[in-house]
Amino acid sequence: MDTTHVQIRQQLEAQLDHPGRLEVAAIRVALARLENGTYTECCKCGKEIDSRRLVAFPTTTTCLPCSI
Ligand SMILES: [Zn+2]
Repeated sequence: MDTTHVQIRQQLEAQLDHPGRLEVAAIRVALARLENGTYTECCKCGKEIDSRRLVAFPTTTTCLPCSI
């Protein structure tokens, strides 16, 4: 797991203690995706999600083209 993912994971886990801005369900999905190695994979097209997008929206499960 690269450093960015470690930081995102810590960020998500911190959010779980103080839920509100991000949905708890979405955080759990993101953590599960980090766990099983599919975090960077778009759930719609299977392509890699841009890491800048993941940093900006840590709970996203789709790449930018699929989100529109
Ligand atoms: Zn996609």
